[in-house]
Amino acid sequence: MSVTVRVALRVRPFNEKEKKDNLITFIPEQPQQIRLNHENRQSFTFDYVYPPVISQADVYSSCIQPLFDQFTKGYNATILAYGQTGSGKTYSMGTSDNNNSSESEEQGIVPRFTKNLFQWITNQQTNIKYQVKVSFLELYHEDIIDLLSTNPASCVNIREDVFGNISWSGVHEQLVHNVADLLSCLHLGSQSRTTASTDMNSNSSRSHAIFTVTLIQQLPESVINSKFHFVDLAGSERLKKTNAQGDRAREGISINSGLLALGNVISALGDEKKKSKRSHVPYRNSKLTRLLQDSLGGNSQTLMLACVSPSDSNANETTSTLKYANRAKNITNRVIINQQ
Ligand code: ADP
Repeated sequence: MSVTVRVALRVRPFNEKEKKDNLITFIPEQPQQIRLNHENRQSFTFDYVYPPVISQADVYSSCIQPLFDQFTKGYNATILAYGQTGSGKTYSMGTSDNNNSSESEEQGIVPRFTKNLFQWITNQQTNIKYQVKVSFLELYHEDIIDLLSTNPASCVNIREDVFGNISWSGVHEQLVHNVADLLSCLHLGSQSRTTASTDMNSNSSRSHAIFTVTLIQQLPESVINSKFHFVDLAGSERLKKTNAQGDRAREGISINSGLLALGNVISALGDEKKKSKRSHVPYRNSKLTRLLQDSLGGNSQTLMLACVSPSDSNANETTSTLKYANRAKNITNRVIINQQ
């Protein structure tokens, strides 16, 4: 089955500093369309456009629940959170502990997904056996760090079979039995990410994080195995704005090069679609694109969640996020149920 990459744009509310200027970048047009409020007044159309007032519950039910339903049928799924630092990626994904108390309306995507998953398993009245495993990787420069492994030196390998399917080996996969188990892995991994960043004198917004939930459904005669990747990409802001120098500058360049490689893969896949013929897709130019090869042009139902600030002070970064996300709409993935 062919499916296109879907794109959701989420505009966060003004923060205290921005409230004083009260200068907004956008004019909402139709439900799925938004027009920039400056110079060229370009307009963009996405599968979902979420204004600042939208709740976490509405985001989940409109764009994540359909992916969840496909995941439980045996399809792989990916969410890529993209945007400048401070645009709401972590808030939306729910990968920090600040808004994750179990009844909080502010709970983000991963905690809602977790509840949804174990509730779904409880409701199944079949002779299928279910197993849930999680892994958590961080990419910093071209290094892969296994955030759930006690062994600090990661030995993650990325392999491609003759059909082009990607698998990772050497990644620690933790078996989890309930919501609390799964969220404690998320919490532990997030803490290791922060500690690793502090040790490396960096900032976790400069690295990419991939939290993966695997669902194994053991049927009497076969096994269905699906993966859901939650990807929190590094902040997309350009280096010159951060005034980075020395090591920080090197970091910025390197991290932008991961996002750049991702952008080049997105462009190559978009060109393939326009020209209706296969072209070279440069997956091998970075570990990020290699790890996510299945999510872009491969066997996964993928959503890019583009996060932006509403404020005119971020207009340039917002415009570049919109353009990046706009290119992702051109990708077609070919998906199958992973049944053996
Ligand atoms: P990022 O992960 O992109 O760097 P964060 O998710 O940390 O950004 O968001 C920056 C700040 O904005 C946080 O304090 C967060 O709570 C707040 N925020 C982001 N999006 C929303 C939203 N939709 N509603 C309320 N607060 C938000």
